[in-house]
Amino acid sequence: MRDARSSAPGLYLHIPFCSAICPYCDFSVMRAASPARQRFASRLVAEVSLAASAWRDPRPFDTVYFGGGTPSQLPAEDLARVLDACRTHLPFATPAPWVFLEANPEDVTPEACAAWRGLGVRTLSLGVQSFADEALRFLGRRHTGRQARGAVETALAAGFDTVSIDLIFGLRGQAAEDWQLELATAISLEPQHLSCYQLTIHPQTRFGVQAKHGQLSELPEDDQANLFELTHRFLADAGWPAYEVSNFARGPAHQSRHNRKYWDHTPYLGLGPSAHSLAAAEASSPARRWWNERGTPRWERRLAAGERPIEAQELLGPKDLAAEALLLGLRTTAGIDLEGLRARYGVDLLAANDTLVARLVDEGRIVVRADAEGGRWLVPTLSGLAVADGLAAAFDLSLPN
Ligand code: SF4
Repeated sequence: MRDARSSAPGLYLHIPFCSAICPYCDFSVMRAASPARQRFASRLVAEVSLAASAWRDPRPFDTVYFGGGTPSQLPAEDLARVLDACRTHLPFATPAPWVFLEANPEDVTPEACAAWRGLGVRTLSLGVQSFADEALRFLGRRHTGRQARGAVETALAAGFDTVSIDLIFGLRGQAAEDWQLELATAISLEPQHLSCYQLTIHPQTRFGVQAKHGQLSELPEDDQANLFELTHRFLADAGWPAYEVSNFARGPAHQSRHNRKYWDHTPYLGLGPSAHSLAAAEASSPARRWWNERGTPRWERRLAAGERPIEAQELLGPKDLAAEALLLGLRTTAGIDLEGLRARYGVDLLAANDTLVARLVDEGRIVVRADAEGGRWLVPTLSGLAVADGLAAAFDLSLPN
């Protein structure tokens, strides 16, 4: 069951621009005219060179992820400028790293796809969210269902290795049949990857304000749980197994090799406003996570002053890392490699939690599985995946910090 995961670091580049700000979005985003976008690209190039001189990991990057925001809102020549700077200042894998690009359907044209492919983009991730016009209006999106279908078809025709569709479920008044139709439409287009996220109302967003005034609410928990289960069962039956709580792929080759790095603590460097980075522990120092200024104006000001735009950092001891590994592992269908957890962080999860594990196995939330090499894995069932965060919180990680 152990797979050959890459331990090479990943590079994340945050592009904060969006054509409109969606009422549920709590990412670092902004609207801006063309000169501001060009200036942003120049600042990002400057950050690449500053960050490269402080990045100690000699292993070459094998993934580059343009996320946002909406990276497709940055002209291809600016994306190329940024990539060139990365190639010049940072070690890049041979053959070239796998490049991911998030795009909104309204930006997807044959010409744009050709330009992105020319940059080495291999996964195009489309922010479709829904194929139903009414749902799209509710979500504040600018595209229609027809445009979304057209964008997927255009992207597939352009020959990306993986075309991924993002969908959102749990909208006010959404019935199971509505959601099943969304899923059926998505897979009928034959992309290679799907991400299905539950709508969450964050306090600092327009939806959050409406919820505070009683004008909007999340779906009741039972309905959300039913839609979650429907998603996993429907897609599994259609040949789309989940590999993470929100992610589904047509085969392992299409799973996100970049996101996997976040889940198993492979180092990553994040550049751009709000981006996070992780450096592995070394003999003399613990692992370290740091993150950039969240607001683009402040991020730009720091760079204009010749400074790295880091807002804060935290040091992560074995107990912190083990807690994260537990949380992230229980959100994946592969589960947690128990021997790996002990080797990396010194945690014997089963010994410290034998009563809890027996109860969760009894309740059908997890199974303990052996692999061909004699290793043991703690694997969530579908009902365990549905409550993965709660499960992780129940474990005792007895070990000194
Ligand atoms: S397009 Fe995506 S990143 Fe931009 S505002 Fe909407 S949800 Fe946020």
